[in-house]
Formats: sequence, C-alpha cells, structure tokens
Amino acid sequence: MLDVSKALSNPGAGIPFEMPLEFEPTFFMGETLGFENALVSGVMTGETDMVSVNSRLRVTVKAHCSLCLEATDLDMDVPVDCVFAREEGEDTYPLEGYRADISRAAFEALISELPMRFVCREDCKGLCPVCGKNRNTDPCGCLEGARGPRPLEALSVLLHNNNEEV
Ligand SMILES: [Zn+2]
Ligand SMILES: [Zn+2]
Repeated sequence: MLDVSKALSNPGAGIPFEMPLEFEPTFFMGETLGFENALVSGVMTGETDMVSVNSRLRVTVKAHCSLCLEATDLDMDVPVDCVFAREEGEDTYPLEGYRADISRAAFEALISELPMRFVCREDCKGLCPVCGKNRNTDPCGCLEGARGPRPLEALSVLLHNNNEEV
C-alpha cells in the first residue's frame, strides 16, 4: 500500500515516490509467469479526497520462449497512470484512509501490456518439428531439402542471374 498522506496534505503539489512491489506468479496465455524486481516510481498529486498517480512500473517477467521453450526474461517498463478516490468510480481505485493499493493498479497495467507470446530472441529458430531438438543450440539438419519450394527458388534465381549475364 502506498502512503498518500503527504499528497493529500499538500494538494496540487507533485510528490515523488518509489516503491518495490511483489507480484504472485500468475497464469497467463497458457503459462505461469513469474515477476522479479518490480519497482514503481513516479509522482502523486493530491486533491480533495483523491490522488492521481503518474508513474512507471519496471519489472522482470520470467517466462518461456513460445518457440524453443527455453526460460526467458523480459524486462518491461509500463506506464501506471491512475486515480485513487474516496468516492467509488468506474475509472478510479478506492482510497482507503491514506493508503492506495498501487500494487493492484500497477499489476493491472502490467497485464494489459504483456505480449501475447514470449520469444527468447527475434530470430529464435524454435524446436525442430521432426526430431524436437532446439535448433538454436542443436542444428540437426532434419529439414534440409524437406521444404519443396526452396531448392526450386534457388534454381530459378540462378537461371535468372545467368540470363542477365549473357
Ligand atoms: Zn526461443
Ligand atoms: Zn531435427
């Protein structure tokens, strides 16, 4: 919980804050994600009976590559902009005394920014569909010649080039 008493007693003043957060492992798009080093930091501004927060959440998401299944970390940096109010509202979070549940707001912001799938790197070669080896670390050669169009494409390029040279 974020202590917002300073913001409420200094209406209109931007009060900087920083707070480490803990998130439980969460099931998302078919796998359980872990979260480490979550830190929210920014500015809170009080008005009568409400506090608006403009901040960013930095967190390391522990996931698995959807192509090669290796463990992969993704460092995320997402905006957490929200309002805590004493009066219930559709777009606000409740203010409980002088405490605001910034953790909930930050987690919801994080979930909305998570990618649909994780990859360990842009050019991950994934698992071989034939032998199941990780093709990043274990080139197996199973697919050599198995993709019909490839050799023909290479041939037509070759012929084309030859024609041009003539
Ligand atoms: Zn991968
Ligand atoms: Zn293979």
